[in-house]
Amino acid sequence: MKVLLLGGTGEARALAAALHPQVEVISSLAGRVPDPALPVGPVRIGGFGGVDGMRQWLVAEGVDAVVDATHPFAATITAHAAQVCTELGVPHLVLARPAWASGSAIVVGSDTEAAEAVAKNGYSRVFLTTGRSGTRAFKDVDAWFLIRAVTPPDPDTLPVDHQLLLSRGPYDYDGELALLRDHRIDALVTKNSGGAMTEPKLRAAESAGVAVVMVDRPPLPSGVQTVTTVEEAAGWVKAKTAG
Ligand code: NAP
Repeated sequence: MKVLLLGGTGEARALAAALHPQVEVISSLAGRVPDPALPVGPVRIGGFGGVDGMRQWLVAEGVDAVVDATHPFAATITAHAAQVCTELGVPHLVLARPAWASGSAIVVGSDTEAAEAVAKNGYSRVFLTTGRSGTRAFKDVDAWFLIRAVTPPDPDTLPVDHQLLLSRGPYDYDGELALLRDHRIDALVTKNSGGAMTEPKLRAAESAGVAVVMVDRPPLPSGVQTVTTVEEAAGWVKAKTAG
């Protein structure tokens, strides 16, 4: 039984740890960050080369099942895996951590809509946490931005008035509250990533009376089998192994 585990998340690392070495798991990372947290067991790094590349790779490696534990906003790789597994008849599972409750947040469908919401509401000091690829939509918005990302965004995509904060979670409530207060933030922009590692910013925003603009998740491909926890995903793989 050989499993391809599409990763780049804490859940994927936890799943690799839960399965290795009883199950042969190859973890796959996109290779976006220079010094990624690595899962236990074999790891491959870099894109497959689209749908065709992934199909060839799965066949050449003799993969028996695919678990997609990528980030909820990594929609392209998720669509590719769903398509290729359907075509090849390879069992396929998506591990999608539960979304956050949106509470009183302004919920929008894209980074562009988030930027429009910031402009429309006249927020002036914005904590932007949508990642290195999420800055371009805010480039021409008239506000000051505290931009937090793991790796530096392309300078061409940055709003003029900003401060860049390079860091990687997890974050805690006290630190997030201090950050909001120290920078006199009036709005937080976030993806609905879900998970505990970056959730304290939402509680801190609520305490500090900071508005939240939340980008909703892209939909999953239709018909995919999903679970929400690492334990359920490990159980699914083990059941396949037993079968
Ligand atoms: P994406 O838009 O869905 O994927 C773009 C391309 O990157 C894919 O077509 C694929 O290239 C390659 N790719 C993505 N994930 C891969 C993986 N696990 N293994 C091999 N190739 C992969 O993905 P993204 O939003 O750029 O995210 C990239 C990775 O970072 C994901 O694996 C995700 O779990 C992680 N991540 C993303 C976010 C986020 O907010 N998007 C946040 C935290 C972590 P080919 O077409 O060449 O195969």
